Amino acid sequence: MSHTQNSQPQLSPIPLQQAPRAELAAVRVVASDIDGTMTRDGRLVGEVLDAIGRLVEAGIEVLPVSGRPAGEVLGLARYMPGVRRAIAENGLVRVVPGAEVTPLGQSPDRARLLDVAAAIAPTGRPLRLAEDAFCRLCDVAFERDGRDDASLAAMREAAEQLGIHLLWSSVHVHLSLDPPDKGVAVRGLCSADGIAAEHVLTIGDAPNDVGFWVPGRFGVPVGCAQVMQQRAVLTEVPRYLVAEEGDGWLEMAALLLAART
Ligand SMILES: [Mg+2]
Repeated sequence: MSHTQNSQPQLSPIPLQQAPRAELAAVRVVASDIDGTMTRDGRLVGEVLDAIGRLVEAGIEVLPVSGRPAGEVLGLARYMPGVRRAIAENGLVRVVPGAEVTPLGQSPDRARLLDVAAAIAPTGRPLRLAEDAFCRLCDVAFERDGRDDASLAAMREAAEQLGIHLLWSSVHVHLSLDPPDKGVAVRGLCSADGIAAEHVLTIGDAPNDVGFWVPGRFGVPVGCAQVMQQRAVLTEVPRYLVAEEGDGWLEMAALLLAART
């Protein structure tokens, strides 16, 4: 399609309900962000956990892909019904409960990343190390502390000038040596399993999910509705939209299951 070319303006997202049924019926993997995507008001609710189980029973893998640290995602994946593996730290670590934790990026130079964090934060408003920093393998994360997209974009630019990658989610600000890209990690994992990208649905809600939405990368790139409020700082937008947060995730799951009957 023409919008796979960078020179083309990106198309505006359309409701996932309008996706061709055959496209939805072909989905074999749901690669999903967690915070703001599977959650409702910051909590994983029973309805979403049940929907994960129904998708897995229908033969669709649910692959959590989070900016949360390796240690935390390992625990989450272990307790999600039917989930057998996940990706943490925005694509920098792969975790398989009961089997292995595999860094996909290099170990962070913590001292350097902390120096950069101190250098790029606005005067009087330093970045605060995330509470989960102790269980991270490949990045260093800070609390977002309610910072707006414009101030985060300014910090991203300052970090890039120092040769460091910065990205943010609804909850955290991440600094890393390797470019974090959830989409690259998912593609690597699926291609190792022989799953073609057109059989993968990706879903997220924030700037750390843009790797999910690069045109041509995945069959069904989806965003939760709140993503459009952040459009000014997104380098990519999803092709499809669902409702906000966990309600959107439930909408997506219902559409996939309906397409298979
Ligand atoms: Mg999120």
